[in-house]
Amino acid sequence: MRSAAVVDLDAIRDNVADLRRRVGDAQVMAVVKADGYGHGLVPAARAASAGGATWFGVAFLEEALALRAAGLSERVLAWLYSPVEDLIPAVAAEVDLGVYSIPELARVVAAAEQTGRIARVQLKADTGLSRGGCTPADWPDLVEAAGKAQAAGTVEVSGVWSHLASSDAGPRHSTNQEQKAAFTEALAAAEVLQPEVRHLANSAALLTDPDTHYDLVRAGAAIYGLVPAPTFGDFGLRPAMKLRAEVALVKRVPAGSGVSYRHRYTTSAETTLALVPIGYADGVPRNASNAAHLQINGKRYPIAGAVAMDQLVLDVGGDDVLPGDEVVLFGPGGPSALEWAEATGTIDYEIVSRVGARVPRTYVGDL
Ligand SMILES: *Cc1c(COP(=O)(O)O)cnc(C)c1O
Repeated sequence: MRSAAVVDLDAIRDNVADLRRRVGDAQVMAVVKADGYGHGLVPAARAASAGGATWFGVAFLEEALALRAAGLSERVLAWLYSPVEDLIPAVAAEVDLGVYSIPELARVVAAAEQTGRIARVQLKADTGLSRGGCTPADWPDLVEAAGKAQAAGTVEVSGVWSHLASSDAGPRHSTNQEQKAAFTEALAAAEVLQPEVRHLANSAALLTDPDTHYDLVRAGAAIYGLVPAPTFGDFGLRPAMKLRAEVALVKRVPAGSGVSYRHRYTTSAETTLALVPIGYADGVPRNASNAAHLQINGKRYPIAGAVAMDQLVLDVGGDDVLPGDEVVLFGPGGPSALEWAEATGTIDYEIVSRVGARVPRTYVGDL
């Protein structure tokens, strides 16, 4: 194949099993939003289930409905929707809905009344991220409104939760201390609702701070073998994605040849250039130009000049590289997604989740 993202489903399964062992009695929610961080929504979810995940986490309603359409019956939490979206299909599909405000709660109640079902809602406290969630000032009113709806039998408050701003900085970081304290307060105020699950941890918190485990952990990056808290190590998790391509063309060029747009690279001697048919439309960051390395036959080569929409060029010197040779952009047997992230000023989450729709996903493993 010209290019492919090869996904090892056994790695996802085994990473989830490893995380389960780390969290003791807490359940694992596999976060499979954004097409399973680029790995494929349904295959990633099935692999995570095989590893023992009992919940799935997604951002958007259609992601939750796609899991249901694939026949997955685990609990699913969807946490982000806009005021124009129809909540009825999600309530009918027994998706737990994140709720941040009284108007959102009212919309879920209306959807529950229209479907004749009890809607499960999970109230999110904003403990300091200042993104989604309810501020401490508004929290008592939201809890009260949810209590009334629960008493009326339209909703069940299945969870109370929050999200950390600096989990990768470790348990002692002041922001984490503050948010943990704020979450304790939010939980105390919501205790009357008797939520089924309380949850705070994402991957980095799960790995570095047992105080955040509560009843459920929301693990995204870690299940794919990314490195959510690089300063604390990789925790032995296995990367699940390998992004590969094949050399399309090889040619000798003289010293002084300008390479790719705007000639941001010039050959210093007579050399061999290898053309790789993958570019920024496929998710290779354009600022990987002259920065990131790719691997061919066990050896790494820097990208020569600008990454184009569909292609990039490597200077392979005098090495014997042939058309059709495998090029590993990142993943097992090549540079890591974290190395790519560091070379391009981002995080490995972005490297995997932006692999383009044009790149076929292929699956390996026993699953
Ligand atoms: C994406 C997301 C997660 C997963 O985070 P990781 O760092 O990938 O584990 C957890 N919770 C929320 C609210 C998210 O948006």
